[in-house]
Amino acid sequence: MYDFHTHTFLSDGVLSPVELIRRALVGGYKAIAVTDHVGLGNIEFVVKTLVADCKMATNRWDILALPGVEITHVPKDDIDLAARTAKEMGAKLVVVHGETVVEPVEPGTNDAAIRSRWVDVLAHSGLITPDEARLAAERGVRLEISAKRGHSLANGHVVRVAREAGAKLVLDSDAHAPADLLTPELCRKVARGAGLDDDEVEYLLDNNPRELLVQLGVEHPSLA
Ligand SMILES: [Zn+2]
Ligand SMILES: [Zn+2]
Repeated sequence: MYDFHTHTFLSDGVLSPVELIRRALVGGYKAIAVTDHVGLGNIEFVVKTLVADCKMATNRWDILALPGVEITHVPKDDIDLAARTAKEMGAKLVVVHGETVVEPVEPGTNDAAIRSRWVDVLAHSGLITPDEARLAAERGVRLEISAKRGHSLANGHVVRVAREAGAKLVLDSDAHAPADLLTPELCRKVARGAGLDDDEVEYLLDNNPRELLVQLGVEHPSLA
């Protein structure tokens, strides 16, 4: 399993980064990105901490742990700067908290995320438009199928629009606690529930994450 969107007590999750990675490994993950919520003010603290802990875990254990961030409720015109800053400080993966239907995310956030060259994944993009999805396809920004309650309400819409636009999808837990981590059964159910057929599910859970990892330029024996 692969998961590109998780949280620790560096923001509003309950576990330390290393415990989250440990539990992911034991649960069968090959790779996990730890992506705590950031604004401009806490990027340095979060990224520095995650770089050290992810490196430690990845060196010793059979899992690839990637230091990341989730740029969350940042004004849309500062998203590019926040994303660039995170990458410059060592984040391997930048997620943007998209326009989920259950939070008052600033309109224009999806568009700003897709246009930033530093953003890898647009999380829970809510009622994303066909134009935005086409741009995401062109720019290689992944759209997310979310296993998280609330954010998952628009998964069916995201799948339909992404399919028409040719945008690539990833499935993430958005875990804040150990019980939120993915299992193979949950991955399949969420993917099927979002409207994917069997072939598309295989693609989503295997090809897509591997392709993203190649694009990020990361390697690890756990991926062999
Ligand atoms: Zn959160
Ligand atoms: Zn999140």
